[in-house]
Amino acid sequence: MTLRRASNVHLERHDNWLGRLVRVEIQIGRGHTTFTLDRAHWLEVERDEQPAPVGQEGDRTLWHTAEGWFWEDDGLDAEAVALLLWDRTRRLDARIERLRTIHARDEQIEGARRERIPPEVRAFVWERDDGRCVQCNAEEDLQFDHVIPFSRGGGNAEDNLQILCGSCNRQKSDNIS
Ligand SMILES: [Zn+2]
Repeated sequence: MTLRRASNVHLERHDNWLGRLVRVEIQIGRGHTTFTLDRAHWLEVERDEQPAPVGQEGDRTLWHTAEGWFWEDDGLDAEAVALLLWDRTRRLDARIERLRTIHARDEQIEGARRERIPPEVRAFVWERDDGRCVQCNAEEDLQFDHVIPFSRGGGNAEDNLQILCGSCNRQKSDNIS
């Protein structure tokens, strides 16, 4: 059961010479699907707070809803369409909430990454680790490594830093990810 938002819906109101609405033409997309509603029908659709069927094309029905225009092709009634709309909004909200959380975490990681390791901390760690890789004692290609990575909340404090050579550091990242 799916609702698909109808795109490019264009309404054209036709008035008589007294300016009174006679009918409304609803054109959808480039396929030139057009539904014509007389005044009474349109006013009813417009007034309806529940989804209202507006026209049928093949197996699918165009619905006018508070959230806009939707196609539906399961022969649903207004209550079912309203429930699907409710579900759609609910899932969208949940999705946005999830994205918000992920985004906030990413921002936090980025912020921490931008913070440089203070020089006095670098000096301390270098002295403490004797200027070598703490894993294999290599003295070349050395890097400051975060014991607990930024992405897991580790910071730039000296007890979270160690010296690793490039190859040990890569091994470590491979194990983490
Ligand atoms: Zn090493």
